[in-house]
Amino acid sequence: MSNLKESILLIEDEESIGEGLNFNFEHEGLHVEWIKDGLEAVEVVRNRYSEFSLIVLDLMLPEVDGFEILKVTREHAKQIPVLVLSAKSLESDKVRALESGADDYVTKPFSLIELMLRVQGLVKRSKWYRQESVSENIQLGEATFNLNSFHVTQKGFSPVRVSPTEVLLAKVFLENPNTILSRALLLNKVWNYDARMETRTVDVFLAKLRKYVEKNPAQPQHLISVRGVGYAYVSDESYREALVGKK
Ligand code: CA
Repeated sequence: MSNLKESILLIEDEESIGEGLNFNFEHEGLHVEWIKDGLEAVEVVRNRYSEFSLIVLDLMLPEVDGFEILKVTREHAKQIPVLVLSAKSLESDKVRALESGADDYVTKPFSLIELMLRVQGLVKRSKWYRQESVSENIQLGEATFNLNSFHVTQKGFSPVRVSPTEVLLAKVFLENPNTILSRALLLNKVWNYDARMETRTVDVFLAKLRKYVEKNPAQPQHLISVRGVGYAYVSDESYREALVGKK
């Protein structure tokens, strides 16, 4: 396995962008399968998802759009990281993609260096994830995350499917209770990114996590924001008081 190249599924209809990415990914030692059509992409995701370490997905595609491909991907492949690359630069599109199961979102035009760092981070993470055998449930606030089936259950509700990024984020908080974790540290531990990267993705995922973990996400009791720094998972009442007192 270790001497096989990691494979990327590139779903992009624009020739010039696709060619550039194909070249650069291969230059980095990755194997690339480039698909330009939404219908074909759905077929490949359905039948061959296990061959890939990462999907790089454009949103505006002929036949089937990227949101639909994202949905199909999460129905079949829960673990594979998906990096959305799109000219849709609205915050609402970004949030929608992250809500639909993407792990990160990069807006076109993008910096090639930054994109490559993200790709490398996510590919490395997915390699790590496949090697690790996790079989536990973790409890965070009001929610129980199952690390095997990628489901989260909140008391009194049916289980909901979550992505590895959400599960990993919950795990990092659980392993570091009553500690302020910076966005940079979370990006590094969960996305496997360089610490200097842009941080909005962390905030969107935090909001997602709060929907499961908090009784009332508008008044979080477990995942507390620390202005200008990051977030803390509070498991201890006196720590919460100290933290809130600091604000
Ligand atoms: Ca396109």
